[in-house]
Amino acid sequence: MPDNFEVPVSLPNTPIRHVRLLILGSGPAGLAAALYAARAELAPVVLSGTELGGQVSLTFTIENYPGFPEGVGGAELGDLFQKQAERFGARVEFASAYSVDLSQHPFKVGTDNGEVQAEVLIIATGASPIHLNIPGEAELTGRGISYCATCDGWFFKDKNVVVIGGGDSALEEGLFLTRYASSVTVFHRRDSLRAGVVLQKRALEHPKMKFIWNTIITEVVGKEKVEAVKTKNVQTGEEGLFQTEGVFVFIGHTPNTKIFEGQIEMEKGYVKVDNHMNTSVAGVYAAGEAADPNFRQVITSAGMGAAAAIEATKFLEKADG
Ligand code: NAP
Repeated sequence: MPDNFEVPVSLPNTPIRHVRLLILGSGPAGLAAALYAARAELAPVVLSGTELGGQVSLTFTIENYPGFPEGVGGAELGDLFQKQAERFGARVEFASAYSVDLSQHPFKVGTDNGEVQAEVLIIATGASPIHLNIPGEAELTGRGISYCATCDGWFFKDKNVVVIGGGDSALEEGLFLTRYASSVTVFHRRDSLRAGVVLQKRALEHPKMKFIWNTIITEVVGKEKVEAVKTKNVQTGEEGLFQTEGVFVFIGHTPNTKIFEGQIEMEKGYVKVDNHMNTSVAGVYAAGEAADPNFRQVITSAGMGAAAAIEATKFLEKADG
C-alpha cells in the first residue's frame, strides 16, 4: 500500500483472525509467494493493498517475462498470477495493512478488515512512484499530472505531453503515450539515458518522441489544469516555459515500508533481507520491490516471493516439530 494511504477506521467488533501465513501485497512477489505457500498447504491469506496486482497491473505490456513470446498485458499477468495461486487455496482479500506489531509472536497486523494474527509474515508491499515535489505538482495531480500512462494516456488524445525521467519507466510509458498524444517530449536531467538499449533505440527513433537534455522541470503551471512547465537547463542555467497539457512523471520509486519502520532492519527505506529472504525478525520475510533496490523486475520479484514462501514453509514446519 502506498505510504500516503489513509488509515481507515477499524471496525470495533471485528473479530481477531488467526492465520498461519499472511502476505502483504498482491504484486508478482506477493502472488508468487502465495502460489508456493498454497501448494505447501499453508492456506495463505494475501492482503491486496490498494493496487490489486501491484504496479505491474498498471503496465500496458510486459515483454520480458519468460513464457510470453509476444508479451503479455500487465493486468492480465497479475490476474493469471492470482488465479494460479487461488487454484491451490490462497485467499486474496481486497484490504490493506496499516499497522504491524512484530515485537510479539504471532505477529499482529492491523488491517481494514480487522486485526490479523499471523504466525509468519511475508512483506511484499512493493513501491510507489516518487514525486517531483515542485510547485504546482500536488495541486495539478489528476488535472494533467499523472504517474501512470496506461491509466491516463487515453485522456491525452492529440495533445502534447511531457515525460520526466530517463529510465526504463520513462521510455516505456513515453512510447505507450505515442498511441494517443500528438507529441511526447522527454525532459531528462542528464544527456544520456539510464534505460536499457532496446527501449532507448525505440524511443530515440520514434517520430513522435523528442528529447530535451540536461533540463529539469521547476514548476508545473496551470489554473484548473496543466498549461505549461517551467524548465531549467542544469548546465547553462537558462530558464524557459514549455506549453503542454500533460505531465507524466517517471523518476523512480520508493518502497512502501513505512509501517515497518523501527521494527525491522531497513536500509534507505528498503527492508533488509539476506539471500534466503530472512529479515531481521525471525518468521518475517520480505520480497519484491519493498526489499530490492537493485533489480525491480517482475521476474526477480516473483523469484524473491517464491524463495520467501519456501523459507516460510520451512519455518512453520520447524515450529510444528
Ligand atoms: P529509475 O531507473 O530509477 O530511473 C529514474 C529516472 O528518473 C532516471 O533517469 C533519473 O535520472 C531520473 N530522476 C530521478 N530523480 C529525478 C528528479 N528529481 N528530477 C528529474 N529526473 C529525475 O526508475 P524507473 O525508470 O522507474 O525504473 C525502476 C526500475 O524498474 C529499474 O530497475 C528499471 O530497470 C525497472 N523497469 C524495467 C522495465 C522493463 O524492463 N521493461 C520497465 C520499467 C521499469 P538519472 O538517470 O540522472 O539518475
